[in-house]
Amino acid sequence: MDAKLWPTILVAALAAPVVIEVAGYFWHRFVEHRGAFGPVFIYRHWQHHEVEYPIDQLRSPHYRDANSWTWYVLLSGIFGAQFVLLPWPHAMAMSLGGFLYGWCVIGVVHSAFHVDGHWLNRFGWFRRLVRLHDIHHWSPANYGILFFGMDRLFGTLREDFPAAKESIFPLARR
Ligand SMILES: [Zn+2]
Ligand SMILES: [Zn+2]
Repeated sequence: MDAKLWPTILVAALAAPVVIEVAGYFWHRFVEHRGAFGPVFIYRHWQHHEVEYPIDQLRSPHYRDANSWTWYVLLSGIFGAQFVLLPWPHAMAMSLGGFLYGWCVIGVVHSAFHVDGHWLNRFGWFRRLVRLHDIHHWSPANYGILFFGMDRLFGTLREDFPAAKESIFPLARR
C-alpha cells in the first residue's frame, strides 16, 4: 500500500468515535426510543429499560452484558456506508476504530453502569456518568453514554432527576 495513505488512514480510525457518537445519538433517541425504523427496535430497548433494568432495580449484582442486537444493526449500517463511501483501507480503519469504540468501550461501560459496586465506581467521572445514565432511565434525556456533546447540542442533557418517572417511549402503548 502507498505509504502516503497512512496519515489519512489514521485520521479515518480516529474519526470513527465521532461518527459513532453522532450516529449513536440519533439511533438511541429516534430509533430505540421513538421507533423511527419500526417497533422491533423500541421493543428490544424497552426490555432494557423496563424489564432488565427498571428504575427500582437499575443495577444487578453481577456483570451482565447490557448490550442489545440493535447496536449490531447500527454498527453494520455505519460500516457498510463506510465501505461504499471510502477507499477500502480507510473503511477498514474506520470500521475497526468504530468497533473498538462502539462495542468495546461504549458497550462495556454501559454494561458497567448496571453492575452493583463495579470497580469503576472508585472514579468520580464514572459515578457522574452512572448518574446521568440513571437519569436517562427516568426521563427522555441523556442519550449519550460517555460523552454528552450531542445532548448539549440538541437540548437533551439533564443533570437532575425528575420528580416522577417520565415517559421515555412516547409511542409505546402500555
Ligand atoms: Zn435508552
Ligand atoms: Zn441502561
